[in-house]
Amino acid sequence: MAEPLILNGKALATEIEAELSVRVQKLVEKTGRTPVLATILVGDNPASVTYVTMKGKACRRVGLEPRRVEMPAETTTEELLAQIEALNEDPDVCGILLQHPVPRHIDEARCFNAIAPVKDVDGVNVASFGAVTMKQEGYRSATPGGIIRILKHYGVELAGKEVVVIGRSPILGKPVAMLLLNEDATVTIAHSRTENLPEIVRRADVVVAAVGKPRFVQADWVKEGAVLVDAGYNAGNVGDIDLENCISKCSAYTPVPGGVGPMTICTLMEQSVQAAEKMWGV
Ligand code: NAP
Repeated sequence: MAEPLILNGKALATEIEAELSVRVQKLVEKTGRTPVLATILVGDNPASVTYVTMKGKACRRVGLEPRRVEMPAETTTEELLAQIEALNEDPDVCGILLQHPVPRHIDEARCFNAIAPVKDVDGVNVASFGAVTMKQEGYRSATPGGIIRILKHYGVELAGKEVVVIGRSPILGKPVAMLLLNEDATVTIAHSRTENLPEIVRRADVVVAAVGKPRFVQADWVKEGAVLVDAGYNAGNVGDIDLENCISKCSAYTPVPGGVGPMTICTLMEQSVQAAEKMWGV
């Protein structure tokens, strides 16, 4: 088989960010204000600290002002809700991101849903999910949005194709399945109770792995010529697909790192810029 196409998320994200920085510059010139993306970090989970830092750096690259709100691990749901409400009311804040996961004692879903839909640039609340699923105006969950964007950019055909999504989390598996359905793919959603997973994956023209288990998808599950999207990001820069052994079988794949990760951050940036443009009428 010919060498597979590398779906290069890093390169595409760099292109998109360059366009975004022009839009932000225009916003600042017209309004004399810099839009703020607020990130809330509860506790000090090292992976979450890294993600929030990466998002702050991306803000600076495109010209948004990052505002990092750090709250102790003992924060209660009520305290977090009050913080979200304050950011909802702040006219400089155009986007709010609550870093997932929050400590277990906090009602994360309630906090996600408290983010005003106009500022829900990470697409985590049920209003955003419902709107996007019904093809109405709303912000996409960032990783699913980034996955669709990269597939479209590289011309991966989705209409009529068999797509298997492994994982059904509210921020990844479930919303990416809805976006793929909206692209007219025939979508199967697999999860921890799915039986005969290898057989199901063997049918797929496109596999989206969002499991959180290193190298979970095996080469002998993959159909010749399939497109592999690896959303996983595990310790040691390892994804959820055994990419090393799948490369000779697939027609295209997202590398880890440099595939889905940068597309997630640039979708967050893009939606933050859109939110600022809408809120400030530019
Ligand atoms: P999650 O909330 O832990 O969800 C994992 C999903 O995988 C669940 O739906 C679970 O099924 C399913 N699953 C677990 N074991 C399985 C098995 N043996 N067979 C089939 N399905 C199984 O994880 P997540 O937040 O969606 O994240 C998934 C991966 O994406 C992780 O590696 C994470 O680090 C990565 N991620 C990357 C980015 C990025 O920007 N690149 C962003 C977010 C997440 P049940 O529902 O039945 O439990």
